Amino acid sequence: MARHFTVLGAGTVGVCTALQLLRDGHRVTLIDRAAPASGCSYGNAGIIQVGGLVPLANPGILRQVPKMLLDPEGPLLIRWQYLPRLMPYLLRFIASARPERVAHAANALGTILDRAIEAYRPLIQQAGAWDMVRETGELYLYKTDAAYAAAASAHALRRAHGVKMEEIPVGELSQLEPCLAPIYRHALLFNDCISVRDPAVFTRRLADAFQAAGGTWIQDEITDLDSNGSGQRHLIGATGRHALDELVIATGAYSKPWARKLGSYVPLDTERGYHLMLADPGVETQRPLIFGDQKFGAVSMLGGLRIAGTAELAKLDMAPNYARAHRLLGLAKEALPDLRTDKVTPWMGHRPSTPDSLPVICRAPGRDKTYFAFGHGHLGLTMGGITGRLIADLAAGRTPPIDMAPFDIARFS
Ligand SMILES: Cc1cc2nc3c(=O)[nH]c(=O)nc-3n(C[C@H](O)[C@H](O)[C@H](O)COP(=O)(O)OP(=O)(O)OC[C@H]3O[C@@H](n4cnc5c(N)ncnc54)[C@H](O)[C@@H]3O)c2cc1C
Repeated sequence: MARHFTVLGAGTVGVCTALQLLRDGHRVTLIDRAAPASGCSYGNAGIIQVGGLVPLANPGILRQVPKMLLDPEGPLLIRWQYLPRLMPYLLRFIASARPERVAHAANALGTILDRAIEAYRPLIQQAGAWDMVRETGELYLYKTDAAYAAAASAHALRRAHGVKMEEIPVGELSQLEPCLAPIYRHALLFNDCISVRDPAVFTRRLADAFQAAGGTWIQDEITDLDSNGSGQRHLIGATGRHALDELVIATGAYSKPWARKLGSYVPLDTERGYHLMLADPGVETQRPLIFGDQKFGAVSMLGGLRIAGTAELAKLDMAPNYARAHRLLGLAKEALPDLRTDKVTPWMGHRPSTPDSLPVICRAPGRDKTYFAFGHGHLGLTMGGITGRLIADLAAGRTPPIDMAPFDIARFS
């Protein structure tokens, strides 16, 4: 008889996991308090960033952080009142920047990113969603030699792991991306990278495919998990109790209390990120553009041009600081001089971040029939498909194609 899985959280990670489990022949229920892809998966930059194996904590970033923090307009901001709560994360972040930890994290991320696109293929195929995918790579741009030099060690690490990148002569940029200002001194094209034309629409297409194939969708805010004397577990929601057999926690930045309830510690925190959507931008990019000097991205999507970036370490429930998003407008206007900036909508999302930049993908230690799939930080869209694949492997008792130890939550205990 088919086993029954409940996946809690319908961001890209939860939706992909639910669909992969369904494809393995299980009965699957997917639960979220809102429509699929209403959380962080709604508003990301849409890049399946297979070259993204450099962990955020690295010696280079530690050198840059003091300067970034002193600049209220800079790409990183800490809300200082949150500092005491943030300390466990920050201390582990600093420890993760040691060279041997960076090498370990890059190796582990490399194993997963190498399989990211391949794991998505059957899901995209099933959803008939190839029209959402753009196979034009990702372009990194640098205005100054200093910014390019600061990124050199990260690019060297990528090269050492076989990430393909092509130096584009700056004289050719106007052909590749006609909307760009002629102000760049260095350009690198990551050819293997793909992107989606809207991450929310893309994820919802996968969620539709899940339902069309017989998956059960429930919209409910889950407040607790209990188990009665006979061992029958339930998720307690605002609309009722949902009987459970096997459970996958895929609640993104909201996963820490669920891990605690299930007996595991995770120093998960949130890096809040922002985007601005320009509905009538007057320019179109051919691919995602990443501006290395100010660390933000711009990409044309179905609904216009999206400018995305910034990291803000602050509480989950603290009100958004949209000034952070609007600061991106001036930077984008410098990069894309013909940009029309009148129809602008800001958005904030909670990246689910671990201090070592590695997601948590594992069985819950000491618990039967329980799995964790969260903590994907800056790469949740990228790693959604492969996370689902790996959880399905663990559930089936198949040996996963990669070493899973770096992704085990037990690394934090
Ligand atoms: C500005 C920005 C740009 C980014 N760009 C990229 C990019 O280009 N490429 C990339 O790979 N990644 C990118 N990311 C990161 C990526 O968006 C995240 O890693 C990813 O969305 C995380 O997915 P998730 O499914 O784990 O979490 P989420 O999408 O946040 O999903 C978690 C879900 O759990 C639900 N939930 C939580 N608690 C409960 C509860 N109690 N009851 C019911 N439901 C609950 C929430 O409603 C939510 O839908 C970016 C992020 C930001 C902010």
